[in-house]
Amino acid sequence: MRKNYLFLFLSFLICLNISSCKRTSYKKEPNKEIILASFTVLADIIENVAKDDFVVRSIAQPGIEVHGYQPTPSDLIKASKASVFIDNGFGFELWAEKFVSNLQVKRVTISDQLDPIFISEDFYEGKPNPHAWISPKRGMIYVDIIVDSLSELQPSKAESFKNNGQIYKNKISKIDKDFSLFVNNLEKNNKYLVTCEGAFSYLTNDYGLKEAYLWPVNAESQITPKRMARTISLVKNKKIPSVFCESTVSNESQMIVVSETGANYGGDLFVDSLSQDNGNANTYLKMLQHNLTLIKKGIE
Ligand SMILES: [Zn+2]
Repeated sequence: MRKNYLFLFLSFLICLNISSCKRTSYKKEPNKEIILASFTVLADIIENVAKDDFVVRSIAQPGIEVHGYQPTPSDLIKASKASVFIDNGFGFELWAEKFVSNLQVKRVTISDQLDPIFISEDFYEGKPNPHAWISPKRGMIYVDIIVDSLSELQPSKAESFKNNGQIYKNKISKIDKDFSLFVNNLEKNNKYLVTCEGAFSYLTNDYGLKEAYLWPVNAESQITPKRMARTISLVKNKKIPSVFCESTVSNESQMIVVSETGANYGGDLFVDSLSQDNGNANTYLKMLQHNLTLIKKGIE
């Protein structure tokens, strides 16, 4: 009888372990160095370069809001076991400075090697917009930076990281070319992308679209009556066919624009987080495809 209880208890522990380790990268692989990314999008890009040579983990899990994330004690334990912590920077992870200040871990911040687009509004004026990965063109630069960083960690594998990076960049490049072609064929008046958060500046800038949004950076509380009125009149005046929102925020405010203007709701775009494993944006490539397919359908 006692043995049965012991067996049940052990099974329970094993189940707990499996359910908390959904992503393949969470398998216990004691001989491999660990790379800790700040958020899921970055973790996926790194996995595509690292392949089997590193274990890649993410601090923020799928669907979690990243800007104001509060790291937990278990995040600190994860970080203490990692060879490197890779974050986006440009002020995206508001928690990152404090998080790494007590750790003896090497840090790579992607934005140190990127050209920023600055926010031109309100409280955020003059600060870089953090969401550079949203543009496939910048995504390819992320890959190059990660290839270099991983090669520094394991110089003997440099060639393999370079190859992995090239194969991956070719896939991003296909998405990039396809979207460029689409935008080039749009009529001038159809080039507006209206979203909740101002997270698409790099995409609109790199592909020749015009951007409008309800709040600049992750602060829903910042929707002012003035900004709401401005968005509504823009959508009406330019006859913008669809407006969008991001998966990690409520679309309630954008639905007001929809009901006031008669525009369509174009769908939820993924920005700061990948979807859950069973979702349709569970990798960076799928996220780009999901977003650009919705945008193409919505604004054409
Ligand atoms: Zn954001």
